[in-house]
Amino acid sequence: MAFTEDVVKNAFDRVNGYCQVCGKKLVYASRGSAQGRGGWEARHIKPVLEGGKDEVRNCMIVCMECYNAPAPVRSGERPPARVEGPRFGER
Ligand SMILES: [Zn+2]
Repeated sequence: MAFTEDVVKNAFDRVNGYCQVCGKKLVYASRGSAQGRGGWEARHIKPVLEGGKDEVRNCMIVCMECYNAPAPVRSGERPPARVEGPRFGER
């Protein structure tokens, strides 16, 4: 249900420490920090509930702003009916 430290580190290195959504520079030590600069979190590209695995290729590095923003709705798709709650507890 959660990425291991290794997977997260690999994913972070793979994107050179930039948010994969907005391109903001992140600070590795600031994982999970909503305050200050460089805060970020790892999220699943394919949700675990849909069979997503805890592996590097399913790990997305996003800054806190993008992490907490609602998932982008692609054109032609209906927005999800379910509203996601806070996910700070997910590790
Ligand atoms: Zn971002």
